[in-house]
Amino acid sequence: HDVYVQAVEALYDEVEPDTLLMPNSVNGLDYAPAVANRRSLPLVTDAIDIKRDEGLSVTREKYGSKVETVVEVDADRAAVTVRPGEWPPAEGTDDTEVRAFDADIDESAVRSTVTGFQEVGGGDVDISEAEVLVSVGRGIEEEENIALVEALADTLDATLSSSRPIVDNGWLPKNRQVGQSGKQVTPEVYIAIGISGAVQHVAGMKGAETIVAINTDPNAPIYDLADYGIVDDLFEVVPALIEAFGGEPPDI
Ligand SMILES: Cc1cc2nc3c(=O)[nH]c(=O)nc-3n(C[C@H](O)[C@H](O)[C@H](O)COP(=O)(O)OP(=O)(O)OC[C@H]3O[C@@H](n4cnc5c(N)ncnc54)[C@H](O)[C@@H]3O)c2cc1C
Repeated sequence: HDVYVQAVEALYDEVEPDTLLMPNSVNGLDYAPAVANRRSLPLVTDAIDIKRDEGLSVTREKYGSKVETVVEVDADRAAVTVRPGEWPPAEGTDDTEVRAFDADIDESAVRSTVTGFQEVGGGDVDISEAEVLVSVGRGIEEEENIALVEALADTLDATLSSSRPIVDNGWLPKNRQVGQSGKQVTPEVYIAIGISGAVQHVAGMKGAETIVAINTDPNAPIYDLADYGIVDDLFEVVPALIEAFGGEPPDI
């Protein structure tokens, strides 16, 4: 915390930006308020869109992603934390100069140190890096049936992710959860299987390039978002897809 605060503060003083952008991550949310406070900057957190024309406008979500609000910042300079995964990664740096910055850290002001890291279960996979995600929801009914979507993910060389109830049930580890209280993902293809498309889930995957939904309910909100929809029983569709892509459906 103290090291980041000092480093970002020093960088801010050197660059003197109109807008100081920081990640809305666990770490970012630790040091951003301290930096903003020490430099008397208004702080807007969890931005999903930012515009700077006359002044600075920052879009945020409220009420569990049901409402978007635009904050017009009434100040010349401001600090903003940006929600990770909200934009696809930039290709290259264009004509922006990227350079190293050496900050002088006052060691005597460092009051906290990291003594170690504890892995949350299944820390081997980062779903936010995946190009193709096969994502499973409560429509899968039972833990034993997860093997079916796992087989589809294997066949497609994709990564397995899920909605929150699957994680809450302990059927997949927390790092597989997509959504507001999970991870934000922006894969090329997102296949939502037995997922209704609740706002908290959509908050994590609406940036996917192509969305395919498999759901028996034609009125499921996921279809408002999907590019392709298969309104049918996943227990029929998923084995057929596995076979179509050259795999072998498991017996479940
Ligand atoms: C503060 C807060 C934070 C939250 N954060 C998250 C989050 O990060 N991620 C998240 O996912 N949720 C989150 N939630 C929960 C969210 O509100 C929903 O409850 C959850 O996303 C629903 O998961 P689901 O779509 O798997 O289940 P359901 O909503 O139960 O949907 C299951 C779907 O499967 C379909 N189905 C059933 N059987 C079949 C079949 N045989 N074949 C095909 N389709 C079938 C049904 O038609 C249904 O649409 C959060 C909630 C709150 C309050």
